[in-house]
Amino acid sequence: MIFQLDNSLVQFAAEGRDNLEIVVSVLELLSVAQREGSHLVFAELDVADGLIGMLEGRDGSARSLLLKVINQYPRIGSLAYGVKLKALIGDFELPQVSVVEGVRRIEYPLGLVNSNLLQKSLILVENLTDADFYRWITNAVLIDTNFSGVSLALEGYPGGGNTTAEAYDNLKANTSRLCLCIVDSDIRAPLLGPGETAKKVIKSDLIAPVVRANYHVIGACSIENLIPFYFFEQAWRDDPNYSEKLEVYRAHYREGHWKYLQLKKNISCFELYGGSAFSVYWSSELAAVEVGCVVDRPSCGRKSSCNEYKLPLLSGSPLGAALPLIKAAVIERQQLLPDIRVAWENIAEEILGWCCASTAHTATA
Ligand SMILES: [Zn+2]
Repeated sequence: MIFQLDNSLVQFAAEGRDNLEIVVSVLELLSVAQREGSHLVFAELDVADGLIGMLEGRDGSARSLLLKVINQYPRIGSLAYGVKLKALIGDFELPQVSVVEGVRRIEYPLGLVNSNLLQKSLILVENLTDADFYRWITNAVLIDTNFSGVSLALEGYPGGGNTTAEAYDNLKANTSRLCLCIVDSDIRAPLLGPGETAKKVIKSDLIAPVVRANYHVIGACSIENLIPFYFFEQAWRDDPNYSEKLEVYRAHYREGHWKYLQLKKNISCFELYGGSAFSVYWSSELAAVEVGCVVDRPSCGRKSSCNEYKLPLLSGSPLGAALPLIKAAVIERQQLLPDIRVAWENIAEEILGWCCASTAHTATA
């Protein structure tokens, strides 16, 4: 994340020796965070100059950090003005979030900055491999932007599926870590709302928000829907059991529809009876599929006794199958459905904000 030194620091540091020492100790912590590649420190030149003027005759990491901030101003400045999220360290009463011209600014009081806060940002996900994929997505999106050289520092944290909201609560209450929680929407048809996991995470922030944590609900039913179909075709290219299935799924790979597909769950014929938004949508989408129990047959009286699948699952672990290929792929603009592309861009914007850690030329700074 970009940690920007707020101009209130200059006034604060000028008000006495003790204050100056507090500022210096925070600068020292920030210097470590930048050197370890966890975050980037930025300041307007007058702020950096003002602070450095008070450190005349002193050596040490606080001063050298300010010199770096000045030297690297053009490079880091373009990123600092391009991200949609940054932390402002200053003489603030309380931590709070403000939104200025579309940029979320976490205003963090000087006295609350500690080394725990300055660890790499946590990316809380349902399964640890999800964090890998989100990082890959971010790099793939950034390659087409001015920020293609920006490296990302993050620590994946597994929430364990439906316990993700509890993990989120715990990280908010019992640590000082920066945390972005990314969850599946589990929206399986138009007009439906988010699923239980996303709902619990949303509720967590309604009840107990903290400025250094936030969540993002992805713009698709689940993370697997973000995978370009090409990778599934590659993953199972030589597996005859999959050729027919891929054929079926290819027909569903279209904008405004693919994002609702539950790739890891069967859709049984029983689920298509009735007037729910799911049934109405999918019974129309799967109307041409001829398998299924006869309506008046007793076997179809309950979901658990219905053994006919209108759409069998693609795989129990589609991400597991595709991820090795994705990671090995040369990152280039993949053929993406437009709405999935938007979902990618939204994820990338979040991850860039929380996790940007160095520009191409400052990796060893
Ligand atoms: Zn049935």
